Amino acid sequence: MLEDIAANLTRIRARIEAATQEAGRPHGAAQLVAVSKTNPVEAVEAALAAGQRLFGENRVQEAAAKFPALRASHPDLRLHIIGPLQTNKARDAVRLADVIETLDRPKLALALAEAMQKEGRRPELLIQVNTGAEPQKAGILPAEADAFITLCRTTHGLPVTGLMCIPPAEEDPGPHFTLLAELARRHGLPILSMGMSGDFEAAIRHGATHVRVGSAIFGARAAT
Ligand SMILES: *Cc1c(COP(=O)(O)O)cnc(C)c1O
Repeated sequence: MLEDIAANLTRIRARIEAATQEAGRPHGAAQLVAVSKTNPVEAVEAALAAGQRLFGENRVQEAAAKFPALRASHPDLRLHIIGPLQTNKARDAVRLADVIETLDRPKLALALAEAMQKEGRRPELLIQVNTGAEPQKAGILPAEADAFITLCRTTHGLPVTGLMCIPPAEEDPGPHFTLLAELARRHGLPILSMGMSGDFEAAIRHGATHVRVGSAIFGARAAT
């Protein structure tokens, strides 16, 4: 497994570059977030050795266990928190992350504003939009997104730079990517985190600036 990681990264980077070019977008317009959740530190080290510096983790506790030591040896490493965030983990997330991609409700906006004040650290924030309005999925509903984006930026003064979504698994993701891109454009937000192992090329065609790829780099995860 570990020896496959460098080759997988090379292949994914080539596919990202090809999709970026086909979309007529500039070189490097879509960045790769290597999603290392559930994988051991050794897997992250293998990716670091292959030149990868941007990582995504779902759970704050797992990120806290894996990343501080890696950061010490690789000061240019960047970490995105991409999983649902409980308010009682807001402070840990602010301490650990460079980007928190999953701001999705008013209580969390308040908790992050307070955490940033206490920690004296302001990671960038993305607002997660539940584009498919799936009841089991995190994210602000599309109908509430305009008001929520304004609340986060204006009321709380939060450093919101973009949007994130996870389209419904069994649907064509295209319309979901379009919806997210349109919402970001309307609010002048430059960052669009969308696309995973199965659909990152489509996301790049729709303007993704960050694609979150896990299993295509690190291998299939054990079922949870
Ligand atoms: C796990 C995860 C990914 C990566 O999914 P793969 O299908 O393994 O590429 C991307 N985004 C989020 C939010 C995830 O939880």
